[in-house]
Amino acid sequence: MANSVNPEDLEILPSPLLAVLNDLHSQYKSLNEGTLANYIPELAKVNPDLFSICIATVDGKIYQVGDYQQTFTIQSISKVFAYGLALEDHGRDYILTRVGVEPTGDAFNAIILDEPSKRPYNPMVNAGAIAITSLIKGSGPTERLNRVLEMFQRYTGQDALVDISVFTSERSTGHRNRAMAHLMLNFGMIDHNIEEALDLYFQQCAVMVNCPDLAVMAATLANKGINPVTGKQAVNNLYIKDILSVMYTCGMYNFAGEWAYKIGFPAKSGVCGGIMAVVPRKMGIAVFSPLLDVRGNSVRGVKVCEELSQRLQLHLFECSGED
Ligand code: GLU
Repeated sequence: MANSVNPEDLEILPSPLLAVLNDLHSQYKSLNEGTLANYIPELAKVNPDLFSICIATVDGKIYQVGDYQQTFTIQSISKVFAYGLALEDHGRDYILTRVGVEPTGDAFNAIILDEPSKRPYNPMVNAGAIAITSLIKGSGPTERLNRVLEMFQRYTGQDALVDISVFTSERSTGHRNRAMAHLMLNFGMIDHNIEEALDLYFQQCAVMVNCPDLAVMAATLANKGINPVTGKQAVNNLYIKDILSVMYTCGMYNFAGEWAYKIGFPAKSGVCGGIMAVVPRKMGIAVFSPLLDVRGNSVRGVKVCEELSQRLQLHLFECSGED
């Protein structure tokens, strides 16, 4: 691809920020609590020791430590970007009639809809994400998948590929997601072709990224939708506040409230063990470590973000530091 960026070419700077990341990496690499997301058989095979942390700034600098070349499937973090594409395809008003913006306080895979609207609660839980993915425009499954992959390429600056084993593993076992799709079909909240919508949802979840990719994607959201490495617009700036608002209130499973209170910037977690966080107008942060707590958040990832928030005074409502 003409505009793709080789990770080897990115500017890697020795800096106080890199020293902080190295420090956090050594501090938390011995933390081995949590479990792999074994409800998707392929994810149960991942090496639990993998650990990387990466920051991308809005001026395109990359700071990375640990296993940052390791790829993994993006899982739920994809929901953020699919939401942006659906907003671009249909506009805010229509999307709001299909999927709400209320946190649930329930697990990400709860089989619930909002009464009486029958909308899924928000686009960051599975039901909402499946409904959002079903709205992505295209003349057929191939064009829709291509549009999703091209969208990921705009955010990362790299070719986007689907991990076929993870995709088929989830497609053959994802009966809970299938049940949600049937419930939404029953209420007319999703189109009749639910297997096509589920395939695209499982494919978007199985897109492969590494930690620097996620950090650049987050930095793009921090930078008015412009990828700070390629300089290309990845998503219309009109929708950044919609995307970041639902990430802030709903992005960290049923830990979203405590996350907003303690850590204080928008983030999205995935059962791959990735956490992607956005500090608006400053940076994107990504952590990858596959061992998850009971809510589905990476154990080390939460700790690293908590420390980064404190050490760098990143909480959005922090008033005590200098500007
Ligand atoms: N593909 C996963 C599922 O639908 C994503 C869940 C997640 O990362 O939260 O169960």
